[in-house]
Amino acid sequence: MPELPEVEVTRRGIIDPLLAHKISKVYFDDKSLRKPFSQDLKKLENAKVLKVERRAKYIIITTDKGYLLIHLGMTGHLKVNAKPCQLSIHDHFAITTDSNVQIVLNDVRRFGLVEYFGEDNPPCESSLLKSLGVEPLSEDFTAEYLFKRLNRLKKSIKQALMDNSIVVGIGNIYASEILFDTSILPTRSSHSITLQECHAIVKSTVKILNESIKKGGTTIRDFEGADGKLGYFVQNLKVYGHYNEPCQTCGTKIEKIVQGQRTTYYCPHCQK
Ligand SMILES: [Zn+2]
Repeated sequence: MPELPEVEVTRRGIIDPLLAHKISKVYFDDKSLRKPFSQDLKKLENAKVLKVERRAKYIIITTDKGYLLIHLGMTGHLKVNAKPCQLSIHDHFAITTDSNVQIVLNDVRRFGLVEYFGEDNPPCESSLLKSLGVEPLSEDFTAEYLFKRLNRLKKSIKQALMDNSIVVGIGNIYASEILFDTSILPTRSSHSITLQECHAIVKSTVKILNESIKKGGTTIRDFEGADGKLGYFVQNLKVYGHYNEPCQTCGTKIEKIVQGQRTTYYCPHCQK
């Protein structure tokens, strides 16, 4: 599943082809993604792109004729073609710009989302985005904020980090990596996390997400950046996917457990 760094890499990959350009053609097929495509998407034809932003794992394209919201779901990725190409069976949505660049959403499992929002109806105020927590790479994500949110929480710190109402976009891979980096046992209850540990978590989150963005995300499953290049951050993963292999710090075998139906990887010696 594309996580925040992959979505950010995708966003950066479509800024140049889209920003200040006009959308000349909008295409969608008759298959549904998470929801069916709305005919309203055609309102974006001849619209000029004003901004290409990201909120959590949503890409928000602001135009002078409304907004285009894209979520990549489980398997979605955007391809940028220098000129319009023949679409393949899993290419469900495409826009072409006035300079003839084509941006295509390929989504094999069709859990993605493409939605139109009118000018008076910004997606940030919609039910999808309104209750989202802070952005991990923004100034709002501070140790004090995290400490306050974890304070009375009984669930595990691993599950709290993956809770979008606290902080957005820390998925399963990065939650394991952040907790390894901060030597915190993923099963600890959130309210036992000290302010000092919150400082470490915030610092580590920013470091790991930024490193991953720089390397183009992870290659787990079938993520590709908007330019079609695979991400290289997977080589930096220290615990995720390393079950039974020696910990890079102490040599103890990496363990795995299931928390909230997701697999957590950790070092039983380094993490306390
Ligand atoms: Zn270790």
